Amino acid sequence: MTETQKYKNPETILLHAAYRHDKDTNSVAVPIYPSTAFVFDSLDKAADLFSLKAEGNIYARLSNPTSDILEKRMAEFEGGSAALSVSSGQSASLLAVLNLCSCGDNFVASKDLYGGTFNLFFHTLKNMGIEVRFADPDDLDTFRKATDDKTRCYFAETTPNPRINVFPISDVAAIAKEYGIPLIIDNTCTPMLCRPFDHGADVVVYSATKYVGGHGNSLGGIIIEKGDFPWREYAARFPSMTEPDESYHGQVWCDMGNVAFIMRARLVLMRDLGCAMSPFNAWLMIQGLETLPLRMRAHSENAAKVAAFLSRHDKVNKVIYPSIATGRQKEISEKHLKGGFGGLMAFELKGGLDAGKKFMGALKLFYHVTNLGDTRSLATHPAATTHAQLSREAKLAMGITDGYIRLAIGIEHVDDIIADLKQALDKV
Ligand code: PLP
Repeated sequence: MTETQKYKNPETILLHAAYRHDKDTNSVAVPIYPSTAFVFDSLDKAADLFSLKAEGNIYARLSNPTSDILEKRMAEFEGGSAALSVSSGQSASLLAVLNLCSCGDNFVASKDLYGGTFNLFFHTLKNMGIEVRFADPDDLDTFRKATDDKTRCYFAETTPNPRINVFPISDVAAIAKEYGIPLIIDNTCTPMLCRPFDHGADVVVYSATKYVGGHGNSLGGIIIEKGDFPWREYAARFPSMTEPDESYHGQVWCDMGNVAFIMRARLVLMRDLGCAMSPFNAWLMIQGLETLPLRMRAHSENAAKVAAFLSRHDKVNKVIYPSIATGRQKEISEKHLKGGFGGLMAFELKGGLDAGKKFMGALKLFYHVTNLGDTRSLATHPAATTHAQLSREAKLAMGITDGYIRLAIGIEHVDDIIADLKQALDKV
C-alpha cells in the first residue's frame, strides 16, 4: 500500500485517506483481503506483534487490511484518533459499553434509544450485572442524578427515532466532563451532518449498516475514539483502562495514549467475543463512504421538501423533522446539525390505525421495511410492527400514535417521492 497525505475536507478524506493505490499491483480501487491469517516474517517479528512492539496483522479476528482502510478513513473523517470496525451496529454499542463496564457497574443512557439498543442495555446487559440508568434529554439534571461512583459512561443517539429529537450533545458532554465520564454518541442517522467530537463527545459509534454503507446491502458497525480522554486522572472510575490486564500479559491500556480505547476494544473484546467485520462488508462500506457526503446532502434536501409537502397536507396532523422543530429543539437541532437535517422523518396521519393501514398498503415507490439509511425510500408503521409489543401508554410516551408513520427518505427524484406519498394519501 502507499503512503497517503492528510486531507482537511471529509469529501476528500473519504476517497483518499489511508489508501491511494496498491504498490504491488497498482490497483486504484481498494482490494478485498479475504485472508484469515497473515505470515510472520520471523519468530522475533511475530513476538513483537503479539507484545504490541510492532504494528501489523496477525489473525482476521483482530484486524484485516481491508477493514484497516475503512477504520482509518472513518477515524480521519470523524476527527478521531482511531477506529474499529465490527460486525454490526449492535456490536459497536456493546463493545463501546463493555470496554468500560463490568459486572456491578452502571452507565447512564438517554431514554430515547433505538429499540434494539434498549433491549441490549435493559435486558441483556442487566442479565450480565451491568445496570443501565435512563436519563431524560429534556431534563438535563436527570443525568447528574443518575451518576454515582460506579457510573462508567454516558450513551445517547444524535437523532433517536421515533421522536427524532436531536440530543443536546454539548450540554450533556459538559455534565460528563464535571464527573470525568466519557460520552458515547451513536451517530448512525447523521454521519457528515453532526460531528459529535466537536460538541464534546469522547466516543462515536455507528451502525454502518445505515447511511455509512448507505445501500442497504451489508451489516456493520464502527467505533471511533476521539483520543484525549484523561483515563489516568479518573483512574478509580476506569479499572479496565488503568489497571494491568491479566488477559493481555499485564498491559495497562491507557499507556497506549490516544488509541487506548480502541486498542482495548480490539485486542480484548473483539479477540474474545469474535464480532469482527468481514472484509467483504468492509469493502462494501468503503464503496458507501465514497459517496456519503453526496448522499447525506441528497437525503436531507429530499426530506426537507417532503416535510414541507406533508406539513401542508390536510390528512396529516403533524410532521416531525429537525428543520421544522420549534423552541429548544430548534436551537439544539441547528447547533448540532450542519449542512442538512438527514433523511429520517415522521408524520402523524389523521384517522389512526385504519388510515395507517390504508396508507402503508397504497405505497408503491416506498418499501415497507424496518430499516433506514438506504438509498431507496422506506416507510414503517411502528405501532403495528416494531413497537407493537409495547403498551398503549408506552407507545404514546414515545410519541407513537396509531397514525404515526416513519419515513427514511431516499435519494430518488423528490418529485417521484412526493408523488408516491400523494397517491397513497389520496387512498386514505
Ligand atoms: N443504532 C441505531 C440508531 C440503529 O438504528 C440501529 C439499527 O437500526 C442500530 C444501532 C443497530 O445496528 P445494526 O442493525 O447494524 O446492528
